[in-house]
Amino acid sequence: MLPDGAIEVLDHGFVRLDDAMADDLSVVNGARVSFARRKEEMDESDAGLVRFLMRDRHGTPFEHNSFRFHVRAPIFIAREWFRHRVGSFNEFSMRYARATDDFYVPEPEDVRTQVGKPGAYSFDPVTPEIAETTRDELTAVYETAYATYERLVELGVARELARCAIPVGAYTEFYWTVNARALMNFISLRAAETAQREIRRYAEACEHFFAERMPVTHAAFVDAGRVAP
Ligand SMILES: Cc1cc2nc3c(=O)[nH]c(=O)nc-3n(C[C@H](O)[C@H](O)[C@H](O)COP(=O)(O)OP(=O)(O)OC[C@H]3O[C@@H](n4cnc5c(N)ncnc54)[C@H](O)[C@@H]3O)c2cc1C
Repeated sequence: MLPDGAIEVLDHGFVRLDDAMADDLSVVNGARVSFARRKEEMDESDAGLVRFLMRDRHGTPFEHNSFRFHVRAPIFIAREWFRHRVGSFNEFSMRYARATDDFYVPEPEDVRTQVGKPGAYSFDPVTPEIAETTRDELTAVYETAYATYERLVELGVARELARCAIPVGAYTEFYWTVNARALMNFISLRAAETAQREIRRYAEACEHFFAERMPVTHAAFVDAGRVAP
């Protein structure tokens, strides 16, 4: 079931903003403390200051805030996500809890072929037959893998070992706490055309929550070419 306020992503995933201490004023006051100044409300000069900081890549004022996301995603997406070192993660444990039997099966229109060279691939649709074969083959592997996992657990094999049978298409859950500067870096890289389609959908969901909480900062980020300061 989709938790309250979550954005649904892929077939069994979501992004939910669990909590946030984040607004545009945190950027403004982080910068204005240099002059022993503080504002209680944003005005147009503050919006201009945010745009200046973004454009000239004064990054540290964008660090005085925090977003805590709750994410459900396939393991191969989590692996890409966890490469983002600036931020904190805690993940569901397959040592302590039973693995989920939810696995990612792409929608037919998301089954694609890659064309071109490494670093410059484009991804084209496949025929409906290949799309269905892909979905059927993945489903068959998932069923076999999960049956093996369950058999091993029933035999008394530790979950930490039985999980070797679980493919990277299985869903995992994690919490991710991150400030706006590192979040913009994530969005810049992972909501881009060059990122894998599946993580892009997650990054777009994170961007939605970011834009909601810090609209001036988000607009400045977009105007600056979506490059993190
Ligand atoms: C399209 C795409 C393809 C990718 N392909 C591969 C791949 O084939 N193989 C692979 O291994 N990875 C791959 N990556 C992962 C990539 O190399 C980064 O690890 C990942 O995007 C995290 O980016 P980051 O280091 O900027 O983020 P974070 O780790 O969150 O760091 C944020 C910023 O902090 C600074 N920083 C953090 N740590 C250091 C440090 N140790 N030294 C100096 N500065 C630091 C940098 O300015 C960095 O941009 C890929 C990423 C993308 C988006």
